[in-house]
Amino acid sequence: MAQEKLRVIIGGAGIAGLASFLALKKLPNIEVELYEQAPELKEIGASIAISPNGLRTLEKLGALNALDDEVAFRGPSAIPMIYRHWKTNEIILEDHFVDVPDPRHRTARFHRGHLHAALLEHVPRHLIHLNKRIKSASASPEKVQLEFTDGTSAEGDVLIGADGIHSKVRASFVPDHRLYATGKVYMRSTFDASLVENIPDLPLDSSHWWGPTANFFASRLGKNQYTTVGNFDSPVDSNGNPKNIQWNDEGDVELFRKLFQDWNPVVTALVDATPYTRYYPNYAGDPLPTWVFESRVTLVGDAAHTHGGAFAAGGALAIDDAYALYLAFKHVFSSKNGTKGSAKDIETALKLYDRTRRPHAERLLNIVLQGINRKPAATDLDDAAVQRIKNKPDTTWLSEHDVEKAFADVVRQGTVDEPSLTRANL
Ligand SMILES: Cc1cc2nc3c(=O)[nH]c(=O)nc-3n(C[C@H](O)[C@H](O)[C@H](O)COP(=O)(O)OP(=O)(O)OC[C@H]3O[C@@H](n4cnc5c(N)ncnc54)[C@H](O)[C@@H]3O)c2cc1C
Repeated sequence: MAQEKLRVIIGGAGIAGLASFLALKKLPNIEVELYEQAPELKEIGASIAISPNGLRTLEKLGALNALDDEVAFRGPSAIPMIYRHWKTNEIILEDHFVDVPDPRHRTARFHRGHLHAALLEHVPRHLIHLNKRIKSASASPEKVQLEFTDGTSAEGDVLIGADGIHSKVRASFVPDHRLYATGKVYMRSTFDASLVENIPDLPLDSSHWWGPTANFFASRLGKNQYTTVGNFDSPVDSNGNPKNIQWNDEGDVELFRKLFQDWNPVVTALVDATPYTRYYPNYAGDPLPTWVFESRVTLVGDAAHTHGGAFAAGGALAIDDAYALYLAFKHVFSSKNGTKGSAKDIETALKLYDRTRRPHAERLLNIVLQGINRKPAATDLDDAAVQRIKNKPDTTWLSEHDVEKAFADVVRQGTVDEPSLTRANL
């Protein structure tokens, strides 16, 4: 007789959704399907960085193609980021790896579409249902349900909301959660690296120039692409959105050039070479009090931690979320002899996941929320730029996080209502 499988439905097929698919498919007796609003899966987005934690986890997930130098760019000096003065181009600070012996785990920069495509290679297309825009999500003691705007729905035993920062799954269970526009709007572009190859003194490593109020980032990406990203402060309307700016709208290249026209010659040459830009208004939101809803629903990626891309951590966090889910389900379900387990088993697995990931994400969110609207204290704006760089928090705890250790710690600690979470069960 065929065993009844645990049916997991994932809302959203971005980096978090695909990584969750890869992770859960490592387990026996689970069937996983994805529901994505986009009508087709094409290359959208700009650059995305994956730090060592995310790259190590991609390797464990078997997505070795995503670590390949063809698709992933790593700087020649093995320095994850160089911070420079906006006007003088002088190096003020460098990030350094603390414990990353394998060169393939050094921070890599991708076109988001290329990373997404690398993960997609591991997902049978018939398991991704396109054109399925989630309207709402619900759960009962027996099942979970996604309702789509086309009037159809999907059911399962477990629901994973991977539908990004404006998550409808999150909104269904935490309706009063609000996002704040941070007041920063990013102008981003990716283009062929040949457009910048003749710029004198162009750094070979990924570089961030910090000015008194704005930043400029430039880096080579995999597949011979290049990215430029600059930000500016934008007024926020009474609904908390940046005025007259929509996500992914075509940006004004002349504005981009004007914003950075007084910066050092490398930056001005980079903005001159940038053929187009798109607007990405930045949002952040408060930490959630729980990531487990109705015992059967959870969130991964930007849906769970609305940090607005701070510290370029979103992609790697999403990948580690997926791995923590895998560890939690493996821990609980490996003793269930191939059955789909009980509702309590699902809840226990989701709570383990929550305890592994939520405090980590909350630490980041608190840094992000404290930083919003922080104006330079110094009256000399140039000095403020240098001070901002020098006071930048060390985020090695984020970029070299060990999700397996974090999970093991949670299991070791156990809890009163889950006495089974003991070292013996590891
Ligand atoms: C198109 C796009 C471009 C991006 N570009 C960049 C970038 O250039 N640089 C960067 O650092 N980060 C970018 N991000 C964000 C980055 O991918 C995430 O911060 C990180 O990878 C975590 O991924 P995520 O899967 O949680 O969220 P996302 O990458 O946002 O993925 C969410 C997925 O859910 C889908 N979705 C959203 N709402 C619904 C709905 N109602 N119903 C069904 N499906 C839904 C989206 O179409 C998307 O596929 C981009 C995100 C998107 C969606």
